[in-house]
Amino acid sequence: MECLTLKKSNCKNCYKCIRHCPVKSIRFTGNQAYIIGDECIMCGQCFVVCPQNAKQITDETEKVKVFLQSGVPVVVSLAPSFVANFDGVGIESMREALKQLGFYDVEETAIGATIVKREYDRICNEEGRDIILTSCCHSANLLVQKHFPKLIPYLADVLSPMQAHCKELKKRIPNVKTVFIGPCVA
Ligand code: SF4
Ligand code: SF4
Repeated sequence: MECLTLKKSNCKNCYKCIRHCPVKSIRFTGNQAYIIGDECIMCGQCFVVCPQNAKQITDETEKVKVFLQSGVPVVVSLAPSFVANFDGVGIESMREALKQLGFYDVEETAIGATIVKREYDRICNEEGRDIILTSCCHSANLLVQKHFPKLIPYLADVLSPMQAHCKELKKRIPNVKTVFIGPCVA
């Protein structure tokens, strides 16, 4: 899925995005910038630096509304960083607010982080590997996969906290749909 796209009409061909792209996965044709999906590691830098607001992050609000109207339980996996956006608001208030919007429940993605940590411990203790690259960051993993493929064998084959949490929710709650709310485009 293309998470980041470009509003063509907005681009003013200033080259700022390509200067800041760590993997130079932006090309220009017809005086317009576009992202090379196969090379992009979804770090979001081009989105941050574009003075024309030309980069667009995929909006899945409508998809979530369809989930909520479908009658199946929809559970939010909430990144703990929400406290940075909602000063003084705790998980209970977030749960209450999201339940009012129709969500079945809300849990912190930290549950997934605990699962991931256990898996890292297991790999370190049981697999006897000399080098293990571990990162919960999708961009770091994409960097290895797309730009340093020789290092792929060293990557720990572990889900991200978001994925691990949603997988666990799907085991625990029949027919559940999961929605991740977090600060990271990747
Ligand atoms: S930073 Fe924005 S306006 Fe400048 S070239 Fe890139 S997309 Fe276009
Ligand atoms: S998201 Fe990052 S890697 Fe992808 S095009 Fe933008 S700056 Fe480059």
